[in-house]
Amino acid sequence: MPRKPLKPCKYGGCPELTEGNYCKEHQALVDSQYNKYQRDKVSQRFYQSGEWRATKKRHLMIEPLCRECMKDNKLTKATLVDHITPIKKGGAPLDENNLQSLCWSCHSKKSAEEGSRWGK
Ligand SMILES: [Zn+2]
Ligand SMILES: [Zn+2]
Repeated sequence: MPRKPLKPCKYGGCPELTEGNYCKEHQALVDSQYNKYQRDKVSQRFYQSGEWRATKKRHLMIEPLCRECMKDNKLTKATLVDHITPIKKGGAPLDENNLQSLCWSCHSKKSAEEGSRWGK
């Protein structure tokens, strides 16, 4: 079988030769970064959708108080609706059973625990 000419890996400074654009190792890296980027884009678009805004509004009417604060017997007005199983992890985006109302502070805490980019 004739071999294709080998080219250096396109990843900056990598000395490996490859038949494609990247060596095996860097191809995997580039693929995973691309997938992550695509997933972020998809969920970003979802949070801007009218469907989500309507679901969020409806959920806040059904459950107007922060669920986490309620566990501590505190009554705090919820300001946002959170996905119990994050969409990125395969949670259902519009399923009432996957939604919970949270106040801002509980949500930031949860995001920080999940290592989200909002978690500061
Ligand atoms: Zn490489
Ligand atoms: Zn709370």
